[in-house]
Amino acid sequence: MKLIGILGGMSWESTITYYRLLNEEVRARLGGLHSARLLMHSVDFADIRVLQQEARWEEAGQVLGAIGRQLAGAGADFLLIATNTMHKVADAVEAAAGIPVLHIVDPTARAIQKRGMHRIALLGTGYTMREEFYKGRMRERFGLEVLVPSEADMRVVDKIIFEELCVGKIQDSARAEYLRIIAALQKQGAEGVILGCTEIGLLVQQEHTDLALFDTTRLHAEAAVTQSLE
Ligand code: GLU
Repeated sequence: MKLIGILGGMSWESTITYYRLLNEEVRARLGGLHSARLLMHSVDFADIRVLQQEARWEEAGQVLGAIGRQLAGAGADFLLIATNTMHKVADAVEAAAGIPVLHIVDPTARAIQKRGMHRIALLGTGYTMREEFYKGRMRERFGLEVLVPSEADMRVVDKIIFEELCVGKIQDSARAEYLRIIAALQKQGAEGVILGCTEIGLLVQQEHTDLALFDTTRLHAEAAVTQSLE
């Protein structure tokens, strides 16, 4: 089993989910007492948040790249960046670490393709919804059309991520807002919704909506187990 290196703590609320899913998935595939082989470096997310807010992305890439290099030096075979947003610096991390980054977009896009869907809504942080590093990869490598909420609704989605989900607040009021926004995207023709932030699955699950949900945390963790067992 290959050793998975995880850049975690962004936020730790979702890193817990990664840890659980990776272990559950290995047990489901291998049975018995089998569990995931992994190394994790969990950051102080407040430091990363400052770099995001001040648009110091090059520095963020250096910080996460140095951590990736440490994980590689300690024996990791490949890396998981346990956040969608920080895939903005995935290339820098991979270059610094010298081992592959399993990009979160790839297993997500493959799961969407497998369901025969083309027009897909994206919920995530403002960076993920507005910028090209994520949607561009979906479009260019996988031919998917990505819909995002209105500007006002993107602000709502982003605010709930940073002010509630990343600090462990899971509230019905936030779920109602997300479901309202999902319904609006469905009206615009979305065939499914990418939960493109690793904390959203803590708030919204498939039982809450008829629209197909693609939970990036789960898809990323499952792909990591596949890669680990190859
Ligand atoms: N975990 C979130 C994501 O998947 C947001 C936290 C961050 O900005 O890294 O994008």
